[in-house]
Amino acid sequence: MLKPPITQRWSNQKWRWLIPILLVMLFLTTLIWLPWQAQRMEANERQEQLIADTLWVEQAIHFQLDRNEEILRLLGKDIVQEQLSPAAATDRFRQLLKSNYEIHRIDWFDANDRLISSTSDSPLLMANKLPPLEFESNFLAVNGRTRCLPPSIEPDTKNTYLLSCQIPLIKENKLNGSIIISYRLQGILEEMAPWWFAQDNQISVLNLDEKILADRAAGGVGKNIYTHNRALELPGLSLTLRTNSNKSEPKLLSNLLVLSVVLLSLGLIWSLIALWRDINRRLAAEGALRKQVAFRTAMENSLVTGLRARDMEGRLTYVNPAFCKMVGHPAEDVIGRVPPMPYWAPEAFEEYQERFSQMLSGSLPPEGFETIYQRANGERFPVLIYESALVNEHGHQTGWMSSILDISELKHAQELTQQQQEKLHASARLATMGEIASMLAHELNQPLAAISSYTTGAINLIQAGNIDSQLLQDALQKANNQAQRAGHIIRSVHEFVKKREVSREPVNLSALISSIMPLVDLQVQATHVNVQCLLAEDLPEVLADKVLLEQVLLNLTRNAVEAMLHCPPEQRVLRIVARHEHGDDVSNNVVVEVIDRGHGITDDIAKQLFSPFFSTKTSGMGMGLNICRTAIEFHGGNLAHLDNPTGGTIFRFTLPVEPLQNNPDTP
Ligand code: ADP
Repeated sequence: MLKPPITQRWSNQKWRWLIPILLVMLFLTTLIWLPWQAQRMEANERQEQLIADTLWVEQAIHFQLDRNEEILRLLGKDIVQEQLSPAAATDRFRQLLKSNYEIHRIDWFDANDRLISSTSDSPLLMANKLPPLEFESNFLAVNGRTRCLPPSIEPDTKNTYLLSCQIPLIKENKLNGSIIISYRLQGILEEMAPWWFAQDNQISVLNLDEKILADRAAGGVGKNIYTHNRALELPGLSLTLRTNSNKSEPKLLSNLLVLSVVLLSLGLIWSLIALWRDINRRLAAEGALRKQVAFRTAMENSLVTGLRARDMEGRLTYVNPAFCKMVGHPAEDVIGRVPPMPYWAPEAFEEYQERFSQMLSGSLPPEGFETIYQRANGERFPVLIYESALVNEHGHQTGWMSSILDISELKHAQELTQQQQEKLHASARLATMGEIASMLAHELNQPLAAISSYTTGAINLIQAGNIDSQLLQDALQKANNQAQRAGHIIRSVHEFVKKREVSREPVNLSALISSIMPLVDLQVQATHVNVQCLLAEDLPEVLADKVLLEQVLLNLTRNAVEAMLHCPPEQRVLRIVARHEHGDDVSNNVVVEVIDRGHGITDDIAKQLFSPFFSTKTSGMGMGLNICRTAIEFHGGNLAHLDNPTGGTIFRFTLPVEPLQNNPDTP
């Protein structure tokens, strides 16, 4: 799938954030607008409530004033019809006064404006009543309507304004007098405005000049936030009723709302930032993961080692390209398969099955094992397989992982090396043979000379006509023996030299050492070395290549002999010891020692002893010990040297008895 270019992805990322940011801003705006709106609504509500309450108070004042006027009019009727004496009228006035605290006084004047009766002892000031002329000429006579006078202060009213209303008394359409009722404006407010209203509001009465005539602030002075002015229309007089709420603006709700908005906004912004950081982290992790996956895929694709994963039932769950290439099957052909697998060679089915059950039981060796696989074209090839448990992140095993190496090349290289090794061995043998050949010539001289002299003697006997058959037979027998001896020597040399394949067979080392003794004798003959063989009788057989071992022994004996060349003759003793070493603390080996009493080996020489072409001899090739060690190690043993306590050197090699016997011919 094609990925969008980086710049486009970047702009996509930016746009992706735009919508949530816009939504959050919208949300925040709504959150801020809501408390503001709520506050406004509450303020409106309070204002409306104030207006309604003010109206209610104004109505209540009107109602009470009208009621008082009504009572006084009825009284006025009785007065006009002269049914009431001034004293009785005063009594009735006082009754009214008693039940209405706001009324300061009531006065009755006749048509000539003389005071007839009054509830007060002091005279009513002129400011609170109209002049009779005006009284008469104005509308009262015509309409008989009540009219109120602008409030003024009376001396006995403790500086409170009085509101006086004059109710005309009409008799036969003529003005007969008037009743003046004086209210204390303060009293009106205190009596007629309900307490609950006065508790929350400052109530004032103002004249047209905005002068405060009465004021009630039971619950505290108004805060000038919620105010309302209501005209208090009285007959002939306009006053204003002002209410001023002592309530402050609605704060608690708005504070709570603002607080919650702030908290919510902070929380929202915090979670947005956290989300943004988290997403960025995830994107970074995703990028790193993608890189990692790409790197691993590239690595996996470039691997030459085949990789294969299996689940707990042995079903293939994964193979890498190298494995597919190796077996010649595409991944989809093998993934999901359970044994038998298409790359199993039919002839090795049993081995696979056994390994497979070993794997399921978890007893496969960690060092790996070799087997063969079959390619899709039927070609077999050797593989080296390492199995290991596949463990998930919780530490539970979920299957097995195998790495598979195609070792055909390696095997081929090993074969080549072995061939070269063999060639080298052959050359070394030839070199050894060169030396032996000169000694052989010397040795063969004897039997040949003997044969020659025996046959010459026999011929002489025949020619002399002395045919003593017994004598002749003896001579021929001796000649025959000598010829056989010579043949034996030649055969062993031939055997030794000829190029051959390595083949292992059970070998008895005592017999082998005995068989090369003629050659050893050849080596020692010129140097008068005394050869001693100490061979244990119960030596077990080892699985070995006879000729290689012969070569090792001859090399070691030759070196030993050469080391003793310059020793006094009595020291020239070569001992060949073979014994069986076994037991609980030692492994089961046949040990062979070639012991000389020669010049020994210094530390400097010891360091290079087994290096190829290292020699201290003028005519030495320096390959002898190297070949010996390779040959012994090839048999699973080892070759070492140590100082002979009586002077000289001991070369010791071991050959394992049991393991190789159980596993023949698998170099
Ligand atoms: P070469 O015999 O051709 O020199 P070798 O590999 O057989 O090659 O021996 C290497 C060297 O090891 C010899 O040159 C010699 O110095 C030393 N060496 C081998 N065997 C003995 C021995 N038994 N005593 C002392 N020196 C030895």
